[in-house]
Amino acid sequence: MIEIAYDRCDRCGCCVSVCRSNALLLAERLSVDHSRCISCGLCVRVCPFGALRMAESGTPESAAARAGHAEGAEKSYDVLVVGGGPAGAMAAYHAAAGGLRVGIVDRNERVGVPVRCGEAVGVTALAEQTAIDPAWVLAPLRGTTMVSPSGIEVLIDRMAEGYVVRRDIMDAQLVQRAVERGAAYHPRVTIVSASPAAGGHECAGARGERFRATCLVLADGVESRLARQLGWATALAAEDISSCAFAHVSHPRVPVDRMEMHYGSTVAPRGYAWVFPRGQGAANVGVGVLGTHGAPGRALECLHAFVKRRFGGDAQLAGIHCGGVPVGRWSKRLVREGAMLVGDAARQVDPLTGGGITHAMHAGTLAGKAAVQAFQGGTFRPERLRQYERSWAAGPGKALLRTYALKRMVIGLDDATLDRIARRITARRRSSLGLAGICVAAFGRRPLLLLKALMVYW
Ligand SMILES: Cc1cc2nc3c(=O)[nH]c(=O)nc-3n(C[C@H](O)[C@H](O)[C@H](O)COP(=O)(O)OP(=O)(O)OC[C@H]3O[C@@H](n4cnc5c(N)ncnc54)[C@H](O)[C@@H]3O)c2cc1C
Repeated sequence: MIEIAYDRCDRCGCCVSVCRSNALLLAERLSVDHSRCISCGLCVRVCPFGALRMAESGTPESAAARAGHAEGAEKSYDVLVVGGGPAGAMAAYHAAAGGLRVGIVDRNERVGVPVRCGEAVGVTALAEQTAIDPAWVLAPLRGTTMVSPSGIEVLIDRMAEGYVVRRDIMDAQLVQRAVERGAAYHPRVTIVSASPAAGGHECAGARGERFRATCLVLADGVESRLARQLGWATALAAEDISSCAFAHVSHPRVPVDRMEMHYGSTVAPRGYAWVFPRGQGAANVGVGVLGTHGAPGRALECLHAFVKRRFGGDAQLAGIHCGGVPVGRWSKRLVREGAMLVGDAARQVDPLTGGGITHAMHAGTLAGKAAVQAFQGGTFRPERLRQYERSWAAGPGKALLRTYALKRMVIGLDDATLDRIARRITARRRSSLGLAGICVAAFGRRPLLLLKALMVYW
């Protein structure tokens, strides 16, 4: 059975995201339903802080004992959005703007807190989804430095401009914008069950709260636990989750307006370490380790080792947290029987970089608009929700599947190969490389791979 060290658990949900038997529940704290647990141990392996372990025996805690009860009146909505992150907030905004009665619930008091994100985002992609408030912007990003296992730096300057943003402010404001359009926000509500009911779905909260909705939007992030209750197979395989630990680092050698991505089997097994500048000598620094190469607490160990290696022993770390990023393919099915899956819950993340903010927002926008279409004419027509699935598949979904194909090509490259590629790139030109240049340098001697890589993007 699984034992939890609560003093180490950061409530990131990595363990929940890989749990096939839905035995883990993250409400005010993490709990295990031992009657469901199959002791596969995957949750233990992917925990970035090493808060879980397999134990011989213990006293099983029943789901009822964990939940507590504070029954209230049932709340009824046209659309209930579970999760107030970027995906849920955008879905709620567009559904409410279209005149629907919308509720959003989130387990936390304040959405986006603690921040579980590197907070890097493309300016154009963000501006396409919403009006950017200058209060969100911490620092501009004008280039990327990729660092090979042995320390060879590859400078990429021809890239779209980016920002490092403050997710705590941005996420709260996105929910606020939905509320201003008429959505009702219910903080500190953890939905523990969702089930089909006559004319829609019924949802229950951990403290006995009850909701009924004609249309359900599941935006509950990487855990995607509720989707499993409705028949989606969203449990992540070890190769599809990046287990991350990250912190704010202050040091004079923090870059000003460039991102850094460091690769190598020691730095970040099958993942990468990032340095994203926040301005004023500070940066978001983190490490992601692929689940297949995970071990209890490995991401945290890698973070400390990386910070020491990159900045020396005098770097100051604050706000150490952990999180999980889905890095596989997005969920094939996004809609079923009056319910839609959006954002990390639908695995709509760039599998190569782990970037998911604007994809989540885009998916939320499409889902919210599809809900409005489905309610048009006074009767709910669930088949119209499929428009969300179609638009996603034809647009960003298509691009992400190509990126996934590229990821499959590069994920297994060993340190020596990565170094060789970096050497080849820097021998050609030291700067102003675009992605095409990188592909040519990386795969130039293997025409078939080069063709495949170029097809991914062009
Ligand atoms: C370490 C790390 C670094 C990252 N860095 C970047 C980056 O630099 N750039 C980028 O673009 N992306 C990054 N991402 C990915 C990005 O954070 C996500 O893709 C994005 O937040 C997805 O938005 P979402 O709304 O789908 O999910 P989330 O933002 O995770 O929101 C889900 C919400 O659902 C709530 N919730 C969950 N379960 C329940 C429940 N049962 N009941 C009620 N509420 C519930 C949670 O409290 C949460 O507020 C990173 C992720 C991690 C973990």
